[in-house]
Amino acid sequence: MPNQRRQRKIQSPPPMDGFKPYGVRMKNMEKVILLFEEYEAIRLIDHEDLNQEEAAARMDVSRPTFTRIYKKARQTVAKALVEGKALLIEGGTYISENYWVRCGKCSKLTTAPDPVQNCPHCHSDKMKNIHQPE
Ligand SMILES: [Zn+2]
Repeated sequence: MPNQRRQRKIQSPPPMDGFKPYGVRMKNMEKVILLFEEYEAIRLIDHEDLNQEEAAARMDVSRPTFTRIYKKARQTVAKALVEGKALLIEGGTYISENYWVRCGKCSKLTTAPDPVQNCPHCHSDKMKNIHQPE
């Protein structure tokens, strides 16, 4: 399909839905959105310490595409830090080989290659599906 954006491969989703500034009133707090693939770019470069070539290969995108994703990711994180905005991590154009499921009781995130019925941390069955492989 011509105009379809190539999907970016994500290995690990964030353990939380986002961040809130400490010491700033929640009322009227503005939000910025970090896409899942932008989070993954920061994770691979700044947490796993890969170079951009390696990170692009992991996400199955070209090097220039990776550079663009990573730059926008850093700009979004900087905006949240500098301007005191909440950072939500959601959305994007991505694929993952794992199910991502969040527990409705303890809020912990589980990733697994098979569907998850019960939380491995608190055994609750109130699991919310965030992502499933195609
Ligand atoms: Zn749980």
